Amino acid sequence: MELVADKQKTALEMLSSALVCGEVEIVDLTHTLDPDFPVIVLPPEFGQCARFRMEEISAYDHRGPAWKWNTFTCSEHTGTHFDAPSHWVSGKDLPNNTVDSIPSENFIGPVVVIDCSDGAAADADFELTPAMIENWEAEHGRIPEGCWVFMRTDWGKRKGAAYLNMQDDGPHSPGPTPDAIKLLIEHRNIRGFGTETVGTDAGQGMHYTPPYPAHYYLHGAGKYGLQCMANLDLLPATGAMILCAPLKIKNGTGSPLRVLALVPKGEQ
Ligand code: MN
Repeated sequence: MELVADKQKTALEMLSSALVCGEVEIVDLTHTLDPDFPVIVLPPEFGQCARFRMEEISAYDHRGPAWKWNTFTCSEHTGTHFDAPSHWVSGKDLPNNTVDSIPSENFIGPVVVIDCSDGAAADADFELTPAMIENWEAEHGRIPEGCWVFMRTDWGKRKGAAYLNMQDDGPHSPGPTPDAIKLLIEHRNIRGFGTETVGTDAGQGMHYTPPYPAHYYLHGAGKYGLQCMANLDLLPATGAMILCAPLKIKNGTGSPLRVLALVPKGEQ
């Protein structure tokens, strides 16, 4: 089947055709939920994030002869997951700040990808700065309003202890500076910010002013976060779209989810 521009077709019919004929491909940006996948570790005086756990209810046996099913438990912020504005104190009083109340049109939209993988390979504390964003825009054009911005670091390829990269003084992983996040929110009006690391902030993000600036500014402005994503190296810098609907948890501050990208063929 060939994709033919047709004035008789609606935009949605065009998209359907593009998906069927492979002109638009789907890239899965999600890690598998697994007890071994690392979760964020906070200083010991704070409550901790639960890992994913799964318990078998039955498996075609005396507990249920014709069926298999499991019970799973985890934090709202385990694995590849969505952060709602209510996750942070700065967003606690905003309207529609929980996963069940966010208007669902926010779960589908365009994304741009800023490639920080070389910098992150050379320096675990690599920072995304306003200058890097402006350099990216000089090459790819201005970041459109309402767009998701993903920080590619290839951190999603790390395994085991290298993922959190815990040192004596805490975790070390790349992230944005306060000024970079403020630029994206105040001057580009982005919809959300996504990373491959365990949070939208750098591992050492507690040392910025304010601490954890991506969480503080994004959620204070009613914007969203995505973290622990995979395969950002398969996305083009511009031109992709994502689907990222969290579970509809009553008053939920976040949720594990499947993040899918729609990518024009040949741009992976
Ligand atoms: Mn989170």
